[in-house]
Amino acid sequence: MTVSLLPPLTYSIGVIDGEPLTEGPSFIRTRSMSRWHRPRNGVRYDNGRTVYGAWCGYGIGGSERAGGFLSTDTLPAGDPVCATCDGRAVGAGQDTGPAGRQLLHTPRTLKPPTNCSGSRTALYTELGGGTVGSCLVCTDAHPLRAMGGPYNSRYAIVQHPPGPGLVTPCPFHAWRQPALKDGRLVCTCGRPLNTTSEATP
Ligand SMILES: [Zn+2]
Ligand SMILES: [Zn+2]
Ligand SMILES: [Zn+2]
Repeated sequence: MTVSLLPPLTYSIGVIDGEPLTEGPSFIRTRSMSRWHRPRNGVRYDNGRTVYGAWCGYGIGGSERAGGFLSTDTLPAGDPVCATCDGRAVGAGQDTGPAGRQLLHTPRTLKPPTNCSGSRTALYTELGGGTVGSCLVCTDAHPLRAMGGPYNSRYAIVQHPPGPGLVTPCPFHAWRQPALKDGRLVCTCGRPLNTTSEATP
């Protein structure tokens, strides 16, 4: 296990029965692939399978012990490597590249959103007086306003950029889907979002 992996962000919402891997092998491929690929992220599923997302877009995985895929940190001499994977892995700083050239690749990573995902929601703790609340997603204090129509009005914290206290993101869904469950801030997939704030009563 020698390279650091990026979070396995996904646009599908829902529970992921597995854990993101933070490290992985340098090279991966299935038996039928003609070249080695390089992992950008990985998930170990509760059913024992491991699936790596390659920089080029391939999903490579299965049970390694059962021969579902191959992995190595030492490239067998003469074996070809996917150019897209290698260029991106090196360009993103995951590994050092061939001498003499500087490659550059900027992956879309965990960039905080323009607007805090606590904006315009009831994910706040009232700070007294009923006019200001502390956002549960980023802990910043902002005004509370009645929002929604006359038949559907509710109090919500106003739209705001994420403050410095922004919670640690879900490795699969980042900050897109925060929710309250049993008084704790969680991602909609159920993973706790790291925060010390307590729920609004
Ligand atoms: Zn590849
Ligand atoms: Zn916020
Ligand atoms: Zn999630």
